[in-house]
Amino acid sequence: MATPLDEKIEPIYQEVLARNPGEIEFHQAVREVLESLGPVLVKNPEFAEHKIIERICEPERQIIFRVPWVDTHGVVQINRGFRVEFNSALGPYKGGLRFHPSVYLGIIKFLGFEQIFKNSLTGLPIGGGKGGSDFDPKGKTDGEIMRFCQSFMTELYRHIGEHTDVPAGDIGVGGREIGFMFGTYKRITNRWEAGVLTGKGLNWGGSLARTEATGYGAVYFVDEMLKARKDNFDGKICSVSGSGNVSIYTIEKIQQLGGKVVTCSDSNGYIYDEKGIDLKLVQQLKEIERRRIKDYVNYRKDAKYVKGGNIWEIPCQVAMPSATENEINGKDARILVENGCIAVGEGANMPTTPEGISIFQGAKIAYGPGKAANAGGVATSALEMQQNACRDSWDFASTDQKLQRIMQNIHKDCFEMADKYGDPGNYVLGANIAGFIKVARAMLAMGVV
Ligand code: NDP
Repeated sequence: MATPLDEKIEPIYQEVLARNPGEIEFHQAVREVLESLGPVLVKNPEFAEHKIIERICEPERQIIFRVPWVDTHGVVQINRGFRVEFNSALGPYKGGLRFHPSVYLGIIKFLGFEQIFKNSLTGLPIGGGKGGSDFDPKGKTDGEIMRFCQSFMTELYRHIGEHTDVPAGDIGVGGREIGFMFGTYKRITNRWEAGVLTGKGLNWGGSLARTEATGYGAVYFVDEMLKARKDNFDGKICSVSGSGNVSIYTIEKIQQLGGKVVTCSDSNGYIYDEKGIDLKLVQQLKEIERRRIKDYVNYRKDAKYVKGGNIWEIPCQVAMPSATENEINGKDARILVENGCIAVGEGANMPTTPEGISIFQGAKIAYGPGKAANAGGVATSALEMQQNACRDSWDFASTDQKLQRIMQNIHKDCFEMADKYGDPGNYVLGANIAGFIKVARAMLAMGVV
């Protein structure tokens, strides 16, 4: 059962539904934030008077464009590109690009909306945005990927810039794609403008620790939640979904902190390795050879591959969903709790359905929502922008230390805000309110724009 909305907020939500028909992921993301904001309006009536919530729910700008390209057989292909520049009250729009066949406006708007609050939580000067395309990179040659990225940037370049909008990676967009897009931006604009994209290669403006940041950051956040309960990762059985960028570095950091990760997955199935996931093998298969995760069992004879199965049926104490939205539903959440799960940290964006969230909260387990737990990626992107602005590059240890401090601060802000609003340990409430208030105050200060 969804939490009822405050009577001042319900009509705003109804208006969002009417103005954005069919965009169900966007509706879900908006509702989750609005459910937390009733008490904020009571303490801050000026937010209602100046229609801050109504304004925050409406993107500042939405761009949809054609992306034509030619495949290896000489056939013309057409995809659709998106960039939603959601809110620039705190800084230039900042958020990744997702290339996946499921992408449509509703997905990009949900991600862009979440990004506003996540970026605010980092404490760094970045607004919220998101973009992408329904292009499917799976099975494409490097040449096809390059031609697609070049065509995509040929339109996107006019909307972005280091002081305007700074895209990065997300699902289907990693270092290779950022390289092709940066090359095209540089060629069209005749500017070597490092700060226009983050997630760049290390020898051309990238930041050490950016590749690791989302996964490491999510584990740092869970570690803080565990510490708040006088516990830690040592000896914990952990389940991680996905086998992409976030998953790989989540697994690495858990292992460094003494936990044992027994699963990983892709969209076809999952691996169960009771002895602990062999991370070097996953990296070889996924980062270097770009193969499917089922091949893992060819090299680890004791591990099992389950095609299409439900990864959350594997008992674990810590679950870190790191693949995609709505991957944990109410039934999965119940299974996790029954199997003794004590903490969930979301590496992915909105991976738990509203029913799943209320089951975790009802069971009083430590539940860290994505907009707080996975903010380490964008925070380190902002650190990359800082290095670009002063033409500097920092070493791994000091960048990682900054990341860790940022995640500790996010945890502290969420924890204290939940306490202040009368629901201790509710990180959803804490993250939504802490993220919202900073943006709302900036919008108030800037007048009606
Ligand atoms: P990658 O493309 O590197 O990896 C995605 C992984 O998730 C792959 O294993 C992929 O499997 C799996 N996956 C993707 N879509 C689905 C699906 N519909 N069903 C099942 N599995 C799926 O992406 P990232 O690791 O970068 O992103 C993962 C999540 O983390 C996303 O929710 C993203 O928004 C979020 N995130 C990422 C950040 C970053 O810095 N990269 C920052 C903050 C959040 P397959 O190969 O079969 O598609």
